[in-house]
Amino acid sequence: MTAEPDGPEDRLRRFATIWSRAVFPVTSTSLTRPEFEQQLVPLARRLSDALRARTFEASEGQAVGAALVAAHCTDPEALSRALDCVDAYLVLYCGEDGPQEALRTRSARLQHAIAAGFAQALRERTLAEQEAISQAALNARSAVAEALHASEARFRAVFEGAAIGIGIADLEGNVLQVNGALLRMFGGSEQSMRGRKVQEWTHPEDAPQVWRLYEELVRGEREHYHVEKAFYRPDGTALWTNLTVSLLRDADGEPQYQLALMEDTTERRLLNLRLRYEATHDALTGLPNRTLFFERLEKALSAGEGQRFGLCYLDLDGFKTINDSLGHAAGDRLLVEVADRLQSCATAPGEMVARLGGDEFVALTTGLDTEREVDALADRIMNALITPVRIDGRELTVRGSIGIVEGPAGERGPAEVLRSADITMYRAKSAGGNRFELADPEADARAITRHGLTTALPAALDRGEFFIEYQPLVHLGDGSVRGAEALVRWLHPQHGVLGPDRFIPLAEHTGLIVPLGRWVLEQSVRQARAWQERHANAGPLRINVNLSPCQLTHPGLVQDTVDILEREGLDADALCLEVTESALIGADDDLLKPLRRLAEMGVDIALDDFGTGYSNLANLRRLPVSILKLDRSFTQGMQQFPADPVDLKIVEGIVSLAHSLDLAVTVEGVETGAQAEQLRILGCDTAQGWYYARPGPPDRLHELALVDATG
Ligand code: C2E
Ligand code: MG
Ligand code: MG
Repeated sequence: MTAEPDGPEDRLRRFATIWSRAVFPVTSTSLTRPEFEQQLVPLARRLSDALRARTFEASEGQAVGAALVAAHCTDPEALSRALDCVDAYLVLYCGEDGPQEALRTRSARLQHAIAAGFAQALRERTLAEQEAISQAALNARSAVAEALHASEARFRAVFEGAAIGIGIADLEGNVLQVNGALLRMFGGSEQSMRGRKVQEWTHPEDAPQVWRLYEELVRGEREHYHVEKAFYRPDGTALWTNLTVSLLRDADGEPQYQLALMEDTTERRLLNLRLRYEATHDALTGLPNRTLFFERLEKALSAGEGQRFGLCYLDLDGFKTINDSLGHAAGDRLLVEVADRLQSCATAPGEMVARLGGDEFVALTTGLDTEREVDALADRIMNALITPVRIDGRELTVRGSIGIVEGPAGERGPAEVLRSADITMYRAKSAGGNRFELADPEADARAITRHGLTTALPAALDRGEFFIEYQPLVHLGDGSVRGAEALVRWLHPQHGVLGPDRFIPLAEHTGLIVPLGRWVLEQSVRQARAWQERHANAGPLRINVNLSPCQLTHPGLVQDTVDILEREGLDADALCLEVTESALIGADDDLLKPLRRLAEMGVDIALDDFGTGYSNLANLRRLPVSILKLDRSFTQGMQQFPADPVDLKIVEGIVSLAHSLDLAVTVEGVETGAQAEQLRILGCDTAQGWYYARPGPPDRLHELALVDATG
């Protein structure tokens, strides 16, 4: 007989059953086991849902941890069993057939969250209980006082029946009586207690106020106090208690005895310590984790005058490759080995190593002389990585990049310091890795703005923060305006107007250049059409638009351009696209095809910044280019008078070669009349530069053009 395969609901219930069997024996509940299991079903469902949710919420685990405490599973063993059970069965019963690796990671994170939620709930509950105990102490105090005055027998009953430890001493501190609960806590006999003095019960972890409060009480200046205090048991182990001490007065109100009530908190404290350890250490390597590291760093950064800190931020080079090729298990072992080695590098007081996550580690040094020490620390780390790591019979070479930040305490916060270290580490990586670099505030600032600009770019286009300035192109022969080059700018809400050099490379890097370039083309073509309509008498004004190399390889270039020209009603020959010389060096036919198509339609192609790219002049013939734009550097050589004769010869040579290939020559960066004259004599056709006009709004151009046409 074959059983029906279980549905998800059956499997969920089975998981709840296993869970309740594991935890029920250590639970102090009045429910039966099946009733208890019923309580666990919704918790199991939450874990199961969280395990498989599209976006993972570890907080579900916390809620489950808190619910366990609410269900009276407060015994440390109960937590431990619950975690074991989740670890072993959650993925098995609730994981369906999803990717096991990811599910296991989620299960591990859920377990951490359960432990954290459990600890938090327990802490809250403890606080509430402390309140209740204080109240009980007050009640007991009046009860005991009454009993003392009224009936010895009733007092005995209260005293012996109490679940918490009770002791009475006189005002000199001589212990007179203790109850059974107290004896059990201490694990000693009545004789060993009686006749001892309260003052002997000091412990190295006594808080400073403990004995001050005691003195005040026995002097009759205080009625009671409440502290957390440790005691030594006769066998030398520590007993932790919540201790409430009250003053008992006689019938005339004179201080007479002191009454101590104590609750054993040793186990709870141990559990809290264990939970704290788990919450602050990395499960894989056992190193302190990000949380603990931040605490320490924060402390180091808020240390007093003269104190300094040094931080090494290490990221392994090529770890992903190891992980991908040898598998996660091998990657994990490598990380454990690296963690061990790092730990041995930072053993001095004030030093620590932590794992931030993945293959990122940090080492911190604090004190007065960290300027010297942090370098030595980085050296030790690099040396520790030199010996290859053996895994599965393979020798793996480990390399790392380190960013170092060092400085005085009290100036920066942990997040800022860590960001600086991270940026510096990336600098070390992009310089080839396997090295360390020191943080440099200027480089940081540049990287930060670069990062900020990159992330702001896409929204900037949507918000219309870009605008275009136009710079006239002037005919050298008669000085008339023939057209203009469109130059894009970004009106950044914080940084003001940014030039293209600041953001075009970022836009190229992120791919935004394609929509941005299309927008520039559209605006410029529309502008050119507007000039033509309004100032037909000023002659046909042309528009030059810059193209990035990325736009050249974009498949939509030709179609987009054709669409825009048609939509705006501009003739193809009124448009010139500028492509930098370097973008076309070594270009193959595939890359040139779209440009050739555009050229065939009548669009001019200009080779921008010509002369900077060392292209083979003979190569020019291959390119679908009709204009050379001589780079500004040539024009600069003509600023002095007389101009450098070699420069003159070169420009003369280029111009005559260009003309023999039927190319027009435009010069850029003309700043003086002398330059303009010189370039005219050399045979250049058009010029562009501050001498004529700086880039400006579109209206300025037709003012210039109108002056030429009429004057
Ligand atoms: P480019 O195409 O060579 O543009 C000429 C640059 O020289 C412009 O700088 C212009 O302002 C500057 N300039 C003009 N006359 C003078 C002068 O007399 N003296 C000096 N010293 N400089 C002069 P800008 O606007 O900063 O543009 C820089 C580069 O950014 C442009 O170089 C171009 O390659 C790129 N660019 C500008 N707009 C766009 C665009 O819409 N798309 C793309 N892909 N690149 C653009
Ligand atoms: Mg240009
Ligand atoms: Mg140029």
